[in-house]
Amino acid sequence: MAELKPATPERVGAELDAAERRERLVEVYREASVCEKCPLAVGRNTVVFGAGKADADLMFVGEAPGAEEDRQGLPFVGRAGQFLNDLLGGIGLSREDVFVANVLKCRPPGNRDPQPEEIDSCRPWLEQQVDLIQPRVIATLGNFATKLLTANPTGITRVHGRPQEHMIGGRSLYVFPLFHPAAGLRTPRVAEQLREDFRRLPELLARALPEPPPGIATAPEGEPEPDQLGLFGKR
Ligand code: URA
Repeated sequence: MAELKPATPERVGAELDAAERRERLVEVYREASVCEKCPLAVGRNTVVFGAGKADADLMFVGEAPGAEEDRQGLPFVGRAGQFLNDLLGGIGLSREDVFVANVLKCRPPGNRDPQPEEIDSCRPWLEQQVDLIQPRVIATLGNFATKLLTANPTGITRVHGRPQEHMIGGRSLYVFPLFHPAAGLRTPRVAEQLREDFRRLPELLARALPEPPPGIATAPEGEPEPDQLGLFGKR
């Protein structure tokens, strides 16, 4: 499923400081804010690009904006967002410490599931975000983000709470699948599981980044071969 090309014209590398990353993210946001690559452009009020710290170690990827997010232009500002804030607070973090984005930047009508063509059209925005932010850990919220970022169709119930090592954008990092907070709002047992899984995050963030597989150059030292740049591909 991974399309093997760099997310940005040149490798970004660790040399960009937070201000430069923010500037570059704003440029990508400007482009995304007028995106018409899929039919969701017709029904949206705003493109919900994502929000948070431009050089965050921890990035969350949810599914798609809901009605409140579409109104405000910000991710996770509804009830699921409040629960996410609560979960973050439980491990001593706040939204200012992390970056939060979604698989889809526009609200699907009636909050229906993202369609494969929409995910494909939208993924270059997410790829550019990951490439610029360079998180150590990407916490995927729910099935859509988890399946996309791990390039694996296994459902969230089977994979939540266990970190996976992946090469994304020529960098080795951890993907940490979590239940979607909206599922936690519906089911107390899932909420409890989310709290338990969140408690693993501080240790994961403090861990050394995973070693890339032998023979794989990591950005920015080497110019990676095209097939090493498969964003969202399994290592
Ligand atoms: N659910 C999501 O997946 N993303 C949001 O931004 C809000 C709710």
